[in-house]
Amino acid sequence: MAEFTMELNDEQKEVRDWLHGFAADVIRPAAAEWDEREETPWPVIQEAAKVGIYSLDFYAQQYFDQTGLGIPMAMEELFWGDAGIALSIVGTGLAAVGVLANGTEEQIGTWVPQMYGDANDVKLAAFCSSEPDAGSDVASMRTRAVYDEAKDEWVINGTKTWATNGGIANVHVVVAVVDPELGSKGHASFIIPPNTPGLSQGQKFKKHGIRASHTAEVILDNVRVPGSCLLGGKEKLDERLARARERARAGGERVKNAAMATFEASRPAVGAMAVGTARAAYEVALDYAKTREQFGRPIIDNQGVAFQLAEMRTQIDAARLLVWRASWMAINGRPFTAAEGSMSKLFASETAKKVTAQAIQILGGNGYTREYPVERMHRDSAIYTIFEGTSEIQRLVIARTLSGMPIR
Ligand SMILES: Cc1cc2nc3c(=O)[nH]c(=O)nc-3n(C[C@H](O)[C@H](O)[C@H](O)COP(=O)(O)OP(=O)(O)OC[C@H]3O[C@@H](n4cnc5c(N)ncnc54)[C@H](O)[C@@H]3O)c2cc1C
Repeated sequence: MAEFTMELNDEQKEVRDWLHGFAADVIRPAAAEWDEREETPWPVIQEAAKVGIYSLDFYAQQYFDQTGLGIPMAMEELFWGDAGIALSIVGTGLAAVGVLANGTEEQIGTWVPQMYGDANDVKLAAFCSSEPDAGSDVASMRTRAVYDEAKDEWVINGTKTWATNGGIANVHVVVAVVDPELGSKGHASFIIPPNTPGLSQGQKFKKHGIRASHTAEVILDNVRVPGSCLLGGKEKLDERLARARERARAGGERVKNAAMATFEASRPAVGAMAVGTARAAYEVALDYAKTREQFGRPIIDNQGVAFQLAEMRTQIDAARLLVWRASWMAINGRPFTAAEGSMSKLFASETAKKVTAQAIQILGGNGYTREYPVERMHRDSAIYTIFEGTSEIQRLVIARTLSGMPIR
């Protein structure tokens, strides 16, 4: 097990500087344009693929970094560049992690490369869990997968919503109900291969922020996939369902939900994205406060402004420490006895919203216009308290974990 460290090693510093250069030179200059266009920034993703930032190899390397700092460091730098574009670059990773976590070696080898494509022909992937009536309440999911034993195929019907890259992805990972009696324990994940008949994009959403990231409904109308597309395989699913039924019969004993553990491990990555956006806005505000003069002196000469900046930086550093701690715990298999993953996401996402609003205030009228990036950063930051579990759900998870009580 790696010791927890707050210092990047030389190799990590090199990667961080490389990512920072890409964020500053390629992502940042393109941010305003793609925010206005509200489209997937294919040329930027392609550029990222050419230099190796959009690739399975790169993410796997960061993901398996035993210090736990690889992923948060990468997320912070890319999202410092721009949240919408960065989400377009890392969105595929959400689906890839779903396969890496639950798939067999064969499934990983077959599908994950098809999620990324290559530098000459980049592809995307989408992870589709949320539904119109099943957001925070995942157990209300209705998308149904039924096994057709004669053909060894799964037949999937339902509507997914708010899927990042939904409908434009090469590979979709879809969560569906296989046993409605078992609530969220009766769910399973499926690969929907490229060009599968029955899968189509529904409405594409016009959003408040992260507008360079494509978000859409995904309609599944009698989608048929081979048995081999069930992540983890049928045998493992049958065993898992049998255990869940047995527990339900024995009185619904509360067991640690594997999905909850996965969320605890993935939430710090969202926290790191929020830290990147918050840091970007803070830096713009600090520069501005030192150069903007009113009443014959820089506005930072006023404690009212300087103290805000002191507060912003303190919160950002605190958020990063929580994120790094939780990431280190995740990779080293430490139990999240205080829901530290949720804590890091809650604090970092709320910090990003607060800090980006403060940045607008410090820039005054300029902060409110699209001439300066902080209004975009503020719009972007609102997503962090919503996806991967809202702030209220994080508080619920933390409170339940701390108390052991079924708090509602
Ligand atoms: C831009 C974007 C991208 C997304 N990408 C994806 C994706 O790629 N894949 C995917 O599957 N999903 C994705 N989502 C969906 C996202 O995860 C959900 O929006 C989120 O989980 C919240 O669900 P909801 O919107 O239905 O809100 P609801 O669950 O309806 O919540 C509404 C409000 O009620 C509160 N609330 C609900 N239940 C409770 C409770 N028990 N206690 C206290 N408060 C509560 C919530 O905190 C929130 O404030 C994305 C969403 C957006 C906006």
